[in-house]
Amino acid sequence: MAEQKTMSEDELRERTRALLAEVHPEKVDSVTFRRKQFDHGLAWVHFPEGHGGLGLSPKMNVVVHDEISRHSKVIHHDPPASIIGIGMGAPVVLTYGSEKMKKEMLPKIFSGEEIWCQMFSEPGAGSDVAGLAMRAERDGDDWVLNGQKVWTTVAHLSRWGMLLARTDPDVPKHDGLSYFVLDMHAPGVEVRPLYQITGEAEFNEVFLTDVRIPNELMLGKEGQGWRVAITTLMNERVAIGGGGSKKKGGGGIAQLQKLWNERKAGAHSAAQEAILRDRVTRCWIDHELLRLTSQRARAAQKAGNPGPEGSVSKLAQAEMNKRMWETAIDVLGSDGLAFEAGYELKQTAPRADTPEQLAKYQFLRSRANSIEGGTSEIMRNILGERVLGLPGEPRVDKDKAWKEVPRS
Ligand SMILES: Cc1cc2nc3c(=O)[nH]c(=O)nc-3n(C[C@H](O)[C@H](O)[C@H](O)COP(=O)(O)OP(=O)(O)OC[C@H]3O[C@@H](n4cnc5c(N)ncnc54)[C@H](O)[C@@H]3O)c2cc1C
Repeated sequence: MAEQKTMSEDELRERTRALLAEVHPEKVDSVTFRRKQFDHGLAWVHFPEGHGGLGLSPKMNVVVHDEISRHSKVIHHDPPASIIGIGMGAPVVLTYGSEKMKKEMLPKIFSGEEIWCQMFSEPGAGSDVAGLAMRAERDGDDWVLNGQKVWTTVAHLSRWGMLLARTDPDVPKHDGLSYFVLDMHAPGVEVRPLYQITGEAEFNEVFLTDVRIPNELMLGKEGQGWRVAITTLMNERVAIGGGGSKKKGGGGIAQLQKLWNERKAGAHSAAQEAILRDRVTRCWIDHELLRLTSQRARAAQKAGNPGPEGSVSKLAQAEMNKRMWETAIDVLGSDGLAFEAGYELKQTAPRADTPEQLAKYQFLRSRANSIEGGTSEIMRNILGERVLGLPGEPRVDKDKAWKEVPRS
């Protein structure tokens, strides 16, 4: 990553206004606006010039968002299906990709024209993703891949996949992995949707049969895929953990507060009311603590990829979200038990027309928060070992060749 530059807030605001003078969000579609935003270096200001940024501190990104929202009623937010590309694909391509990849891929990630997915988990490898079994074998200028991935979010919409595969089974598990960018339209890639508890199919199984990937689409060196995967995962945790409301009392907690204020008279006994009031208040406090912690983390952010501290907000957000939506269901009382059938198969916003429907949807969806992007138990392990410096877990397979490790 190039050295961080400085620019006054006033100058950055002026540059943002220059973008708005050229193309205004109220007059054009999201792709057109975001393409121009990229060209002006205002996509992610902490990226280098020429790659959608200005080489500034990441904390300056909020200035751009703030200036746009002062001058436009329409905001072209990150497209929902592009969250993996923007949060993980872009920093990984920037850190490990060739100039050609950066030039071709970054603008389309930011504009939402090309969706990315992350293909790490397999039926036998989730928390222990370094133990994965998908094989990649060299054949001339290509690699030939065979195996199965699972839980691949937005694979059915994706143009590119960040994929981890085993290129050497004779060395310990972390040393035999390589990292590829997979063309999801390549022959031999089969994507099958998986239905979640919400009724949607947000993620998929992906089967690879003799799929060829050119060697130039390997990120990092052969056998060094784990290092690239760590960059991806650290960015993922920050992307997930930083997803909460930036406004005091905003986002999910505003919904809970609304449900509480509008609860049906007589739905709860006096004793239940007292307990529920206490739970709603605790949720509000937790929500505010998380918002302020995330704000502090953003202020301390430096250019470059994030470290293991990103697990703090990932863990806190997952656990808080679950508590918050459980409380919402309890506030709804018996009305919270019925879940409308027939939710549409789509990846973007859920079909939730009322606060009650939203609460029910979020209650079901939040169950995944403590699993996706690494489980809460794994976040606690990372924080214990890598942030607090506590003794590590026993790892009996650490120095064994991967092919000699027993697996089911
Ligand atoms: C909504 C959703 C979207 C997802 N999207 C993607 C995606 O796009 N791409 C992708 O690659 N994956 C994705 N995943 C997969 C996700 O990363 C894995 O589910 C997760 O890492 C856990 O792996 P697992 O399901 O195999 O569970 P396991 O690893 O088998 O874990 C089972 C249980 O054991 C616990 N456990 C395991 N090891 C330890 C340990 N060492 N110490 C303490 N407890 C432990 C876990 O915490 C968990 O409770 C997604 C998952 C969900 C729910």
